Amino acid sequence: MSDRPVRTRIAPSPTGMMHIGTARTALFNWLYARHTGGQFLLRIEDTDRERSTEAAVQVIIDGLRWMGLEADEPPVFQFARADRHRAVVDEMLARGSAYRDYMTPEELEAERELARAEGRVVRSPWRDLSPNDAPDRPFVVRLKAPQDGETLVDDKVKGLIRFENRTLDDLILLRTDGTPTYNLAVVVDDHDMEITHVIRGDDHLNNAARQTLIYQGLGWEVPAWAHLPMINGPDGKKLSKRHGAQAVTEFDDMGYLPETLRNYLAKLGWGHGDDEIFSDAEAISWFDIKDVVSAPARLDWDKLNHLNNHYIRLADPARLAELVVGILESREVRVREADHALIAHTIPFVREGAKTTLELADAVLFVLKDRPLELPEKTRAQLADAEMAARFKRLRAALGAVGAWDVPSLETALRAFAESEGVGLGKFGPQLRAVLSGGSPAPDLAGAMTALGREESLGRIDDALSLPA
Ligand code: GLU
Repeated sequence: MSDRPVRTRIAPSPTGMMHIGTARTALFNWLYARHTGGQFLLRIEDTDRERSTEAAVQVIIDGLRWMGLEADEPPVFQFARADRHRAVVDEMLARGSAYRDYMTPEELEAERELARAEGRVVRSPWRDLSPNDAPDRPFVVRLKAPQDGETLVDDKVKGLIRFENRTLDDLILLRTDGTPTYNLAVVVDDHDMEITHVIRGDDHLNNAARQTLIYQGLGWEVPAWAHLPMINGPDGKKLSKRHGAQAVTEFDDMGYLPETLRNYLAKLGWGHGDDEIFSDAEAISWFDIKDVVSAPARLDWDKLNHLNNHYIRLADPARLAELVVGILESREVRVREADHALIAHTIPFVREGAKTTLELADAVLFVLKDRPLELPEKTRAQLADAEMAARFKRLRAALGAVGAWDVPSLETALRAFAESEGVGLGKFGPQLRAVLSGGSPAPDLAGAMTALGREESLGRIDDALSLPA
């Protein structure tokens, strides 16, 4: 293997969505490039003109940006390189490693049937005919592949795989209309982009043999191959809609953070011992393709949720607040400018149990309510009781006397109040929580009151005390 500087790439076709498997392939390419001090590139395989809309290309670019896996150079667009692909085929014709095949559709069909009957691959007579005998009719250009021996794909994940050359036909490089075929374009682009390591899904393993033959036909250095196992659903079947999500944007919409997905996807097919949680820097320093396993990986929602909770607890509250604002606005909750800061201030008190940013959005709702809050029927009835009303008045006075409005002081005050009343917290805690939150989910009492602040907390209690009996 040469000692060229490492260059990896992700080469998605714009389909309108970015599959989580593509994101994982991007991640492994990115990790390997970062690990080796190399570069990570992006090529858009946009030769299917109908699907390759600007919007579909944007989905890929946005998906990589969201994942935090941006390429080190501007993207290469495959379709725009068709002239270069054709020029390379001219080179192969000149070298004798490709030939023009003038078989008519009928001749091809007859040869196909014969080949099938004889149990061999299709061979064109034009492989051995002189170009001087060329008729004036459409032709394809085919690779003149070796018919004996083997082609070896020394895959870093799958091991050494042997392909018998007699089982590989002379693949088409240019179609009759002069358009380049997929395998040709991939080889020429990877060569020109100076890709040293092709790391991609194992659905391309057979293409590796065909592409190796094209490299050899050109006398070009073959890159290192690494074919990654698929990601399956929790049931071991191919990941599909039925499993809850498959596109990167769906994971975003479901409230997962990109750093969660980077950590989680790194664990799908690769790992560092039993480490479940690791930073990008750790993954970069540990990652090696040879440690990728070849068996398919399974998506595990529990693990993903566990990791997401970890990263939600770690994230900057101001950043989470912006995400939460976006979620609330998408639910048509009115969010004022001042609420951004209030949400950021509240997040540390409510994020402990949040598995997704959607849950985080639910958890901050209570602070956004306007006074007077609408109280649950049950709370109203309880507060109408004279004994309870009297206790709440005393509670209001006790809380009003709290000095520093923070979690430890409020916890102390609540405990002292319970003691002075000679009751447990259970005798007034649930009602206080309902008064503070209007029945929405809220953290523990001291946390909820710290999030709300002194004025708002006491104000909400005053409102409850002045309810018409
Ligand atoms: N365009 C191919 C795909 O989306 C990838 C080809 C490659 O990585 O070589 O599956």
